[in-house]
Amino acid sequence: MIAPSARGRMLFVLLLCGVAAFALLSCAKKPIERATNIVQLDYPAELPVVRREHWGWTPGEQALPDHTINRITIHHGGEEFSAEKDVLKYLPGFQTWSREEKHWIDIPYHFIIDLKGNIYEARPINLPGDTNTSYDPTGHALMCVLGNYENHIISKDQLNAIIGLTAFLAKRFSVPVDSIRGHKDYAETLCPGKDLYRYLRDGTIVKAVSEKMER
Ligand SMILES: [Zn+2]
Repeated sequence: MIAPSARGRMLFVLLLCGVAAFALLSCAKKPIERATNIVQLDYPAELPVVRREHWGWTPGEQALPDHTINRITIHHGGEEFSAEKDVLKYLPGFQTWSREEKHWIDIPYHFIIDLKGNIYEARPINLPGDTNTSYDPTGHALMCVLGNYENHIISKDQLNAIIGLTAFLAKRFSVPVDSIRGHKDYAETLCPGKDLYRYLRDGTIVKAVSEKMER
């Protein structure tokens, strides 16, 4: 027979063990909160878009509420992008840099367009983007063309990709065509570079997008 005081001590120790085990288990089980509300878009056959899963995108911590798209804003990378660089390998590094260096939840843009005019998904469209400049990108669908179009010429394939993607987004999110703009329309920047911006300024992009949407 155990003396009452010894039994009390044993019960206390058991209770402590239980509390410790519970604490350990709940720590181990605590899930990292991930972005689960990812909106998947259904692209038409004539608009091939590389899905984010294809380049090894990983979900980040959900830190931003969803936004409603009411603008489409065009950017350039702003730095040289070598034609030899493998974009499928570049994008995971861009995602890591965005998270670790900038403390953003993801790549700041929703879509990336490469030198050949291929389109890649980046940040999920339902999450607002990020910027180094002074405008608030909430409500903006953001696309970024890799390369620097302050010094380089935008190609026909790239322009077609911009127009195709913009027309799709404008239709999908009911964005009025006068809300299709360049980064420099909102902030002090050269982005998206003068050779790309001229197609926004002279109405080429908006006209082509309107025609595509009517078809
Ligand atoms: Zn920009």
